[in-house]
Amino acid sequence: MAHSPELPKRYVCVDCQTIHAGTVAERTDTGHRYEPPGACGCCDGTEFVSEADWPHVDR
Ligand SMILES: [Zn+2]
Repeated sequence: MAHSPELPKRYVCVDCQTIHAGTVAERTDTGHRYEPPGACGCCDGTEFVSEADWPHVDR
């Protein structure tokens, strides 16, 4: 089983700043296309930014 590990795109809930793994929206030739989850499991927020865009990711 040649399945190279692929890190899912991650999204940050803007309300509680919890990081969520993106859900797979589509398979592409290069991997998968991700989209943010429908709602935050922690606070039910629906606004997400990709982790790369989150200004506070310096941990
Ligand atoms: Zn949240």
